[in-house]
Amino acid sequence: MSYHSYADIIIDISHESLDKTYQYAIPDELSSLAVIGAPVLVPFGKGNRLINGYIVGLSTEPKISLDKIKPISSVVEGAPVIESHLIYLAYWIKETFGGTMNDALKTVMPVKKAVRIKEQRNIIRIKPIDELRQIYEEQLKKNSKARVRVLEALLTDNELDYDKTIKTLNIGSPVINWLIDNDIIRIESKQIYRNPIDKKSSTRTPIRLNDEQQAIVENIIKDYNEGKRYTYLIHGITGSGKTEVYMDVISEVIAAGKQVIVLIPEIALTYQTVNRFYDRFGERISILNSRMSDGERYDQSLRAKKGEIDIMIGPRSALFTPFKNLGLIIVDEEHEGSYKSETTPKYHAVEVAIKRAELTGAFIVLGSATPSLESYRKCSLGEYKLYTLTKRAKEASPPKVWIVDLREELKQKNRSIFSRKLKELMEERLSKQEQIMLFINRRGFSGFVSCRSCGHVMRCSHCDISLTSHVNNKLLCHYCGHEEQMPRTCPSCGSKYIAAFGTGTQKVEELVKREFPWARVLRMDTDTTKNKGGHQKILSAFANHKADILVGTQMIVKGHDFPLVSLVGIIAADLSLYAGDFRASERTFQLLSQAAGRAGRDAIPGEVVIQTYHPDHYSIITAAEGDYEEFYEQEMLYRRLMQYPPAAHILLLLVTSKEEDKADKAVVHVAEALKEYIRTNEIASQIIGPAPAGLAKAKDIYRRVIYIKDENYDILVGLKNYLEGYFNYSGQFTGCGLQFDFNPMSSY
Ligand code: ADP
Ligand code: ZN
Ligand code: ZN
Repeated sequence: MSYHSYADIIIDISHESLDKTYQYAIPDELSSLAVIGAPVLVPFGKGNRLINGYIVGLSTEPKISLDKIKPISSVVEGAPVIESHLIYLAYWIKETFGGTMNDALKTVMPVKKAVRIKEQRNIIRIKPIDELRQIYEEQLKKNSKARVRVLEALLTDNELDYDKTIKTLNIGSPVINWLIDNDIIRIESKQIYRNPIDKKSSTRTPIRLNDEQQAIVENIIKDYNEGKRYTYLIHGITGSGKTEVYMDVISEVIAAGKQVIVLIPEIALTYQTVNRFYDRFGERISILNSRMSDGERYDQSLRAKKGEIDIMIGPRSALFTPFKNLGLIIVDEEHEGSYKSETTPKYHAVEVAIKRAELTGAFIVLGSATPSLESYRKCSLGEYKLYTLTKRAKEASPPKVWIVDLREELKQKNRSIFSRKLKELMEERLSKQEQIMLFINRRGFSGFVSCRSCGHVMRCSHCDISLTSHVNNKLLCHYCGHEEQMPRTCPSCGSKYIAAFGTGTQKVEELVKREFPWARVLRMDTDTTKNKGGHQKILSAFANHKADILVGTQMIVKGHDFPLVSLVGIIAADLSLYAGDFRASERTFQLLSQAAGRAGRDAIPGEVVIQTYHPDHYSIITAAEGDYEEFYEQEMLYRRLMQYPPAAHILLLLVTSKEEDKADKAVVHVAEALKEYIRTNEIASQIIGPAPAGLAKAKDIYRRVIYIKDENYDILVGLKNYLEGYFNYSGQFTGCGLQFDFNPMSSY
C-alpha cells in the first residue's frame, strides 16, 4: 500500500500533548477530508484500539519508516467541534503572523493542570457558651496556656479558620484533640469551588440607556437577528456609556443561547469593572488574568467548555476560551498595545477575534475613546460599521484643558517641575478638599541619568538602554535588572554635573511632598503594585479619600472612577512623543486623552494641565481639544507620506545571536536573499536596513533588524514564508534566531 500524504495527530488537546504528535498515513479516499483541525479516529498502541485525535500538521513525506506508519481509520464528520476550530485558528495564526505550528497551538490551548481541590477547614464550637466559660476558668487555674488561648478565641467566635488558628495561636494537635474529645468543638471541612470572582452584593440601580446608546444597541441587534455578521466600532469618549451598550448587546446574545468573550486590557480589568458585569450577569461570568495559576486558568476553561458560564472576561488570552456556541466577541479599548502578543506568534487579538468570529458565525464589537488608526480607517473603507457616542452619559461637561509651555517656565526662572499654572490649581484644589491626579507617562523613559556638561547618558552594559536612577544612589536597568552605583562625576568628561534627567514617579512624589507638605500623597507604579492586591489597595485608599494626590504612571489613567478628582496634571507630555517609533504621536494622543478623561467625572467640573516642551504639536493640541477626527487626519497624512501602517504594511525581521559578528553576517545574508527574491518575483516591496535594533543588545543577545514595507499584506506573508524556509534549511544560520512581527506595536 502506498500513500501520498501524512498527518501529524495529537491525541488530546493540551500543551503537553504537543510533545507527543504521532504521524499517520492518509488513505487517498480520505485526503479531501483530512484538513488541519479535523477530528479523526486512529488505531493506537499494540492492540490497535481506535481512539480520537486531531490533525495538526500535513506533509507529503513520512518521518519514520513506512512499515511502521499506520493509516487513519476515519475522519469524524458532522458539525465541527470546538477543538477543530481552535486548531484551525492556530494554523491561521501561524500562517498570518509567523512562527511554528507548535508556537501557535500553545497559544490557543490551555496548559493542562490537575485541578487541585482546595479545602477549607473550620473549628466549630458545639459546647454551650456558659459551659465553655466554666471550662475556660478551670484551664486558667491549671495554667494550661495553649488551651486557654483557643478557649478565649471560642468565647468570642463560634467558628474559627482551622489553619489560621493553629498558626496564630500557636497550638498543636494535642490541644485540638483534647477539645474534640471533650465535645467542645468539631472540625468541619468543605471544598471550595474555585470561582475567581470576589463576590459583592449588588447595590446598583438599573440604568436606562440614553437615545444614542439605545440606537446603537437596536441597530446591532437588528443586524444580528437578520443573520448579518459585522464588525462594529463604537467610538465614544471615556464615560460616554460604552460598557452599558456592551452589556445590553451581551444580554440579547446570551438570551439567544450563545456565549460571549469580553476582552479588556489587563490594566483596566479592575474590581470595579468586573463587579459591574457580575451585578448584571451573576455567576454566569468568569474572568481570566495573568495572576491566576495554570490550574485556575484550566478550571475556567473547563467550566466554559462544560457550559457552566456564558461570559468570559479577560485580556488577550481569553480569546481562546473554548465556548461551544460563541456568539459575540467584544474588544474594549481596542487601540491598546497589549492586544498585540510580544512573543511568537506575534498576533493581534483584534485580527484573531475577527477570524474566530468568521469561523463560528459570531460578530465583533470594538470600543475605544481613541480608536487605533487601523480600525478607524477600516470604518472609512466600509469594512467596519462605525457608531459614535458624543456625550458623557452622566451630565458632566468636558474638562477645561490648559497647555503649558515648559520653555516659557524656564525663561521665567521657574525650575520646579510644577508650572505656575499647575501649582496654582493644585493649591486651590487642596484648599477645597478635592482630589488631584499627577501623571507621568512612562517609567522607562524618565529618570535617566545624563551629564549636563557633555550630554553623556548612563547606559546598561548588557542592554544598551539608559539606566534609571533609584533610591540609595543606585542605577537600575529596567530591562535586565542590572544595578550599579550612581557615579559622582561623569565617566566621559569628569564633570560633576551628572544627574537624573526628567522625573520618575518616585521623584514626583518627593517633590509634591516638599511643595505641599500638608497634602496626603499616594504613588502607584510597578514598584508599589508588585504585591498581590497592591493595585487595589492603593486605588481604594484613593477612592475613599485617604489621600489628596495620586501620583502614577499610565496605570492610573485606566478605567477608574474617582468622583472627587477635579484636576489632572500631566507632568511631561513629551516623554512619549519622542519614543522613537512611528506610533509615538498616536500613543501620546491616546495617553493625553485618557488622562484628561479622568478629570471631572461627576458633578465637579474638571481641569487638566498638560506640561510640554512642544505646545504646538498636533497630537497635544488635538488631545487638548478632544478632537479625534482632526488628529486622525493629521496623523494619516504622516503615515501616508512615510508609508507607515495603516497606509501600508510593515514586516519587521529581527535577527538575533549571542555573537555580534554572527548577527551582523546573518542579517546581511537575509537582506541579500530578500533582495534576490524581490527581484526575481518582480514585487515592489521596499527594504529598510539592515541595522542594529534600537535595543541593539538585550540580555547579552545582539539584535539586528530589517523593515519591509508593502501595501499588500499577502506579499509580506509570502516573503515571510520564503524567509522561514531559507533560514531553516540553508545551513548558514546556526546560532542565530529569526523573528517576524507584522505591523509592530512596540519599538525594537
Ligand atoms: P465607558 O465604558 O464609555 O467609559 P460607562 O459605560 O462606564 O462608559 O459609563 C460611564 C458612567 O456613566 C458609568 O458610571 C455608568 O454607570 C454611567 N452611565 C452609562 N450610561 C448611562 C445612562 N444611560 N444613564 C445614566 N448613567 C449612565
Ligand atoms: Zn560629561
Ligand atoms: Zn540591562
